[in-house]
Amino acid sequence: MANDCIFCRIAAGEIPCFKVYEDELVLAYLDINPFSEGHTLVIPKAHSAGLLDTDDATLAALLSRVKKVAAHIKEALPCDGFNILQNNGEAAGQTVRHIHFHIIPRRNGDPLAFSNSPGDMERLKALAQRIGFAQ
Ligand code: 5GP
Ligand code: ZN
Repeated sequence: MANDCIFCRIAAGEIPCFKVYEDELVLAYLDINPFSEGHTLVIPKAHSAGLLDTDDATLAALLSRVKKVAAHIKEALPCDGFNILQNNGEAAGQTVRHIHFHIIPRRNGDPLAFSNSPGDMERLKALAQRIGFAQ
């Protein structure tokens, strides 16, 4: 446990949360500043900062719990769909450096949106050549 980590302290029961689900590996609780009704965070109880710092076995287990919790929320609320969000680094908007997946319930016609625009085909082609890799 990292003492200065707010999510470690929530996992340890030192700071309260509105719990949605818990097992030996993960804890899921309502986000305190929700994007939508039912916005839930799923965290591993063991501390790691982000995706690249988390071992593959933990990630696999974490994603299976994200699926389980999302399926439950979709029935229990209900909602029409949901976004999964997982921020890495300050530039990406990560404010808590303890890995977490957001489950953001969505309703048909709700106002939440990512804004994008058509990409330039030549730039997309060059970018794929630059960052593409074989397994
Ligand atoms: P990030 O921006 O790092 O991906 O998301 C962190 C999320 O944690 C934010 O949506 C924020 O509202 C939520 N959060 C921060 N502190 C607390 C807290 O003490 N309790 C709960 N339940 N959520 C928190
Ligand atoms: Zn932590």
